[in-house]
Amino acid sequence: MLSIKEFRALNLKGMKRCSRCGAIKPRERFVKDRRKPDGYDTRCKQCERLRTQRRNAKPERRQYIHDYNARRREDPAYWAYQRAYRCRHQTTPEYRAKSRKYYRNVVAPRRRQLQKPQPGFVYVLQSGPYYKIGISKEPSRRLAEIRPRLPFPIELLHLIRTDNMIGTERFMHKSLNHCRLNGEWFRPSSEELKSLIDSVEKEKRGKIDDAYVI
Ligand SMILES: [Zn+2]
Repeated sequence: MLSIKEFRALNLKGMKRCSRCGAIKPRERFVKDRRKPDGYDTRCKQCERLRTQRRNAKPERRQYIHDYNARRREDPAYWAYQRAYRCRHQTTPEYRAKSRKYYRNVVAPRRRQLQKPQPGFVYVLQSGPYYKIGISKEPSRRLAEIRPRLPFPIELLHLIRTDNMIGTERFMHKSLNHCRLNGEWFRPSSEELKSLIDSVEKEKRGKIDDAYVI
């Protein structure tokens, strides 16, 4: 099972690692939580379901559910009250103030951290006519991580050292959007890719570091 650090290094877009079972699943298969930066909690739905089942198996909990259902059946107004509770609770000024504070102190700093220019490398990997463009602070380690996970050989075609690896990567991804296959994989013509790499270097978005040997 991958640790959270190993999983992050893989940079799989749209995937999350469950904090309970450690499984790697698409984001939609996680419990929703609007307070989290990506809108999802760290537990997968399956773990959440098991947790609910375990909790509901306790005798006192079963009794509570039994009483609750009985009351609901007898008194429709109570059921409507229950349903509206969450809605009313989350629109109180106190709740709103609490959410704003959470956003300001937790969510916003995390987003700022992600957007801050970070020095590093943009690598271009090649496998036949396919190219992967990604970022890393340590390309040799990143390559050692990627290689064994792919069922075909890949070559490092190009390495760009830059002060803003996220911005440079984003620019390159955008430029090649018309031939994007999936995530970080593209199928540009070799001339197109070469002219893009040349223009990135000419505009001093970053420069090649010859001293860096894989
Ligand atoms: Zn899980």
